[in-house]
Formats: sequence, structure tokens, C-alpha cells
Amino acid sequence: MSDAFATHLTSAQQFLERFKAEPLGHLINGKRTPSISGETFPNESPIDQSPLGEVCAGDAQDVDLACRAAANAFPAWAGISGAERRKILHAIADGIEARAHEIALVESWDTGQPLRFMSKAAIRGAENFRFFADMAPTARDGNSMPATDHVNFSMRQPIGPIGVITPWNTPFMLSTWKIAPALAAGCTVVHKPAEWSPCSAALLAEIMHDAGLPPGVMNTVNGLGEAAGKSLTEHPAIKAVAFVGESVTGSHIMKQGADTLKRVHFELGGKNPVIVFEDADLERALDAVVFMIYSLNGERCTSSSRLLIQKSIEAEFLEKLEQRVRTLKVGHPLDPATEVGPLIHQRHFDKVCSYFDIAKEDGARIAVGGTPQPLDGKGHFVTPTLFTGATCTMRIAQEEIFGPVLTSIAFDNEAEALRIANGVDYGLAGYVWTGDSGRSIRMARGLDVGMVWINSENNRHLPAPFGGMKASGIGRDGGDYSFEFYMETKNVCIATGDHSVPKLGA
Ligand code: NAD
Repeated sequence: MSDAFATHLTSAQQFLERFKAEPLGHLINGKRTPSISGETFPNESPIDQSPLGEVCAGDAQDVDLACRAAANAFPAWAGISGAERRKILHAIADGIEARAHEIALVESWDTGQPLRFMSKAAIRGAENFRFFADMAPTARDGNSMPATDHVNFSMRQPIGPIGVITPWNTPFMLSTWKIAPALAAGCTVVHKPAEWSPCSAALLAEIMHDAGLPPGVMNTVNGLGEAAGKSLTEHPAIKAVAFVGESVTGSHIMKQGADTLKRVHFELGGKNPVIVFEDADLERALDAVVFMIYSLNGERCTSSSRLLIQKSIEAEFLEKLEQRVRTLKVGHPLDPATEVGPLIHQRHFDKVCSYFDIAKEDGARIAVGGTPQPLDGKGHFVTPTLFTGATCTMRIAQEEIFGPVLTSIAFDNEAEALRIANGVDYGLAGYVWTGDSGRSIRMARGLDVGMVWINSENNRHLPAPFGGMKASGIGRDGGDYSFEFYMETKNVCIATGDHSVPKLGA
């Protein structure tokens, strides 16, 4: 064990003690509270199934309290100046930076994500707050649209209390990506974190409270999706739901929110293609292909889980790829050397492992991996896996596996690559590797996805739109796109003179 690994283990264990000491409560109206029902559920680490304490199981009663608190806090929070909100959001970013190491260690232990990625994710959470903090003073600004006898101008106002529901894969960063713009816009929030990874949400709530956010502006209710999550999406005080998770859950939420006419923003699943043409820089393409499926345990919405490889370079590329996949370092997520950690939960582990049999039934080849790989006999670890010889219609080429599992499909030409790439229900991201600039534009035009990266891995720029088409989502986040969701746009029309007003009954 390296010195750094030993130090991380000791620090993480210290930080985790508090989660074992008493059930992890909700934060409602600035106070940490247990569930009214007194019910809890257990949380365990994916690394070795060791207990990480009990979590309060919120239900409709707790959600109701939180939503009322958010509704009561809304007028005052929406009423303060953008400059004041900016100051508080920067203070939250300061708090995150000060506790970034703690957040990363806790999150790594709770989710199984390697620390090398979680330390960056915590910092990205702070960046999200800073970015939207600086946009808060101009969030209400609109456009001027002069006409002949009138001037039209628009203005924006926050929509109201928001329900934020997040998944377990990179929970801290993802929740800041929703909460920061909502608060910058002047909305208040009720957050329902994922039940399989609730710890870092408690740290975020604590940091926000300590930064001086007024009580009720941000509330956290733990609990199961079908109980706390469902109640949140049905509550009349909640005006919009920002949801990140599975496509099927998005569909449930849309139905649940229908009676109260909720506005919804969905970031859902993906089966994203990385398309490598024979004219690409193959060394760089190889790095990106490996990174974009095996980083974050493959539990990443934008993972490139389908490799579309041109037949003329298939053999050469796959030989190098197999070598790289075989040497990926699977291990304890707190070991700085680890590249792939354990999957989040037994149920998810079983789902990912089921695709090893499905691949064989489909008639694909398991070129690398395809087995569980426990660490000291424990944990939800799997061997990084590569399926080759797949075709577009196979289940391994159609369904989101959400693990360190890559499916390779060969193609002949650009038209076929595009047909295969678009031949799935999802449409989140697409990656194209080519040395031909014209082709890169043609592919960008042709791909039915919300985000295209050309000769690049997923590289985020906060003002740019993030989101998916088809079953991958509704709406876009990032920069002003986020405010379009969290705010209402109002038009004001003023006559400039004495234009003729129609006279009736005169
Ligand atoms: P999930 O849909 O099972 O759960 C997400 C959240 O929804 C959890 O907090 C859960 O408790 C809650 N939930 C479940 N049922 C609910 C209901 N009926 N009403 C309200 N809330 C409910 O997703 P998951 O398994 O936690 O996360 C993995 C999924 O998230 C993958 O499909 C992945 O692609 C997707 N994801 C998408 C993006 C993106 O940006 N597009 C980012 C990260 C993850």
C-alpha cells in the first residue's frame, strides 16, 4: 500500500465516522431533522459492503415540510439583488473548495468512484457555483425588440421552488450543476439525492448553510425514489423538476408531474457512439476511446459505450485497444493508482454482469473481461470488458449497460457509420475522430445527439449547452440555457406614440 493510499484510507475513515454515529437526516428550513415516520434505510459501501450508517427515509410528510419551507423562502430569496446572491454563491464555492478533499474521499467511499476522478468532480462543483454566481446579477435581463409604434422588451423572473432529483454516479458534481443555476436565478430548491449515495449531498447542504444561505432556500430530503422522489414531483408548491437519471424514471416523473403541470428538465441515459475513421490520429483516438468508457467505472451518462470502427483499421485498432483494456488498473477507489473501482450496488453489479451472458447469446466475442473481479473476495468489481464483432441490433449495442463495458461495431463508410450511430433510442452525445474537416461537419450535422465532440473526449465548457435528444433528455443546461429553465420570460410592450387603437362601439 502506497503512503498516499494509507493516508487517504485513514482520513476517509475519520470523515465517515459521523455518518455511522446517527442516521443521516434531512435539512429542512435550515435544520437537520429525522423523518417524521422515524423510518430509515441502510447505506453500504460498494467497496466491501461495509455499513456506512442509516439514512432517514423521507416520505410525503417530510417532502411537504421541505416544499413549504422552499415556498416560504422564495419571495425573499427572489427579492434580494443578484449581486447579493452572487456573494452567497461565491461563499458556497469557497466552502466547497475548503472541504474538497473531504467531499472527494466521502464520495469515493460511498459511490466506488476512483478518487482520481472524484477529487476533480468536487472542484468542478465549486466551479459550477462560481460560474452561475457571476451570472446572477444579469439573470433577469431580457432582449429589446423594437417595432414601428411600440417597443417590446423582455424580462425574466424566477419560476419558483424547484425539485432537484439526482442519480448516484457522480452525485456531488451533478447536483451542483442543477442547484447553482436555480439559486442564481432566484429559485429555492428541494433536493432529493440518490438513495445509493446520499453522503455528499449532506456535506453540500451543510456547506451551503454555513455559507449563509437563508433557511428554506435549499432543503435536502433523503429517501427512496418511489416515496420521497415521487412526492416531490407531485407537490403543488414545486413549479419545475430538474431530473438526472434513467429514461424510464423520466417518463414516470412526467406522468407524476402532469396533474400539477410541472415544467420538466431531463438529463437521461445514453448509448453514445465514438466513431473512429481511418484518417484519424489513431493514438489520440485510442486514448479517448479508453478514457470515455473506462473512467468513472463506465457509470457516466456521456460514456462512449459503442465504438464504431472503420473496417480498414479495425484489426490494428482493436489489437491496441485490447492491450490497453487488459492493463487497466482495477482496485480500491482510494488507491491513487486505481483507474476502475467497484460498481455502486449489488443490483447494478448484477445488471452489468448479466450483459456478459447476453453478449454471448447475441453472438459477439468477449475480447477482454466479462467476469466479476472481487477485491479480497469482496465488492462489486468487474473486469473492464470489451465486446467485439457486434452488430447494431444486438442488445449490447442498443441498451445502456452503465459499466466499464465497451461494444465494438465495424463499419465500411461514412453513411453506414451514421446509420449505426443513430440507430438507437438514445441521443445524448457522439464522438467523431477524423482528419477530414468536411467529414467532421457532415457527421456533426447528421448525428441525432445533443452534443458532438470532434477529435476530443468529453470536454466541458460551462456556457455551452449540455443535454440530449430522443430518449436522452429534454432541455439544455449550461450558461443562459439553464436560466431558460429556471426562469419565466415576460414580454413588456410599450406604445411609443399615438398609434391608432381600434374603436368598437364608438
Ligand atoms: P434512477 O432514474 O434510477 O434514479 C435517479 C433518481 O431518481 C434517484 O434519486 C431516485 O431515487 C429517483 N427516482 C426514482 N424513481 C423515482 C420516481 N418515481 N419519482 C421521482 N424520483 C424517482 O437513475 P440512477 O440509476 O440513479 O442513475 C443512472 C442513470 O442516470 C443512467 O441512466 C445515466 O445515464 C443517467 N444519467 C444521465 C446524465 C445526463 O446528464 N444525461 C448524467 C448522469 C446520469
